[in-house]
Amino acid sequence: MLDFCSLLLAAALSGTCLSITMFAIWFTAPRAGFVLTVACGILVLVVHVILFWQYTKEPDPLLCQVALAMLSLGFLILCLSAMQYLGMPGYGRVAMPTFLAMAICAATTYFGFDGVGFMITYVTVTALLSTIGAMFWINGSHDRRILLVVSFLSGTCAVSFALCCAVLMAKGQWTLGVAPDNWAERLNSVVAVACMTGLGALTLSLHHLQAQIELKAETMTDPLTGLMNRRGLTSLHGERAFGPFTAIVMFDLDHFKRTNDVYGHPVGDQVLCRFAAVIKKYARTGVDAFRLGGEEFAIVMSRMTPEKAYDLASKIGVAFGTEIVPTPLGPLRSTVSGGIGIGEAEGSSLNDVLAEADTALYAAKRAGRNCVISHKRMGKAEPVRPALRTA
Ligand code: GH3
Ligand code: MG
Ligand code: MG
Repeated sequence: MLDFCSLLLAAALSGTCLSITMFAIWFTAPRAGFVLTVACGILVLVVHVILFWQYTKEPDPLLCQVALAMLSLGFLILCLSAMQYLGMPGYGRVAMPTFLAMAICAATTYFGFDGVGFMITYVTVTALLSTIGAMFWINGSHDRRILLVVSFLSGTCAVSFALCCAVLMAKGQWTLGVAPDNWAERLNSVVAVACMTGLGALTLSLHHLQAQIELKAETMTDPLTGLMNRRGLTSLHGERAFGPFTAIVMFDLDHFKRTNDVYGHPVGDQVLCRFAAVIKKYARTGVDAFRLGGEEFAIVMSRMTPEKAYDLASKIGVAFGTEIVPTPLGPLRSTVSGGIGIGEAEGSSLNDVLAEADTALYAAKRAGRNCVISHKRMGKAEPVRPALRTA
């Protein structure tokens, strides 16, 4: 059977290797800031283990205080790294109570109640680990299986720390004078090494997942306007069946080639961004906006009557018509044409609805531009809404 010192040595060694691996990964992918935070957290825990190891050999109150502070600090940093990864605000809500607990622990240890200091630290670490597990479980948007393992490992580690506290309390060890050494401490060393190694490995897989998600988002985003591109449209709506209350409006800026020719490409880009900004302003819940390419845009409107879809598309057209882009040649106003496609009761495909919207858009161009046209479901047999001009 391994003695307590060997277990601590194993914990220090595995933690050091894990931390070095994390630093190396962060070095090659500096955008993954949370990997650096995890590496720092583990490093602080390694410092704790080394100090604690030293404390088991020469019990010194100051060493005890610093070792306990390092334990809380290490898990606090890990908890903050989880928040960083999940994009959760409010680091202070976790850091403040932890610092308070560390201060109380230092005070009690200073006055000779080192057993109480250990209990406070174990409770703090249990709370931090439980918070990590709960945060991943509630806020993680990844594969539930990975989240389950993260929550399980941090939960198991939390239980092992809670047991250490429970044993000290059960024995009434408010003052110790030496490092606690009981079955719970030994179990905790083994569990902590196993769980921390597992969590470290999962951090790497979460890092890969995040990189994948970022890459996917990048491939679906138009860099100029920040809207989703055609790939995004297919990914979001490619598989769905479009019913009579789902509409797609295709927009195409009018005479945009002329805008580029007269005012230059950079001004053309500004006009595109203006239109994207107008769409974003109107794209509320249930409305997704896309730049399909060039000066063509689309919005997909769900849970919307044909009348309302038409009104929203017209509003976007009118709002864009009032936008003025300052240029060296004077203020520039542009217009846009729109065509609406609406799903059928039996369910239409994305391509069907896009084709209908495209035909309506073509009709809008032929009708003189600066208008929105919907070819069906406006109440009459083949009604074409009168062109809605902006001026
Ligand atoms: P219409 O009113 O019939 O739609 O005429 P149009 O001139 O808008 O249509 P056309 O398809 O002939 O012109 C589209 C132009 O959009 C041509 C291309 O140079 C320009 N374009 C495509 N992508 C971009 C871009 O990212 N930035 C800029 N500035 N121009 C672009
Ligand atoms: Mg075009
Ligand atoms: Mg055009």
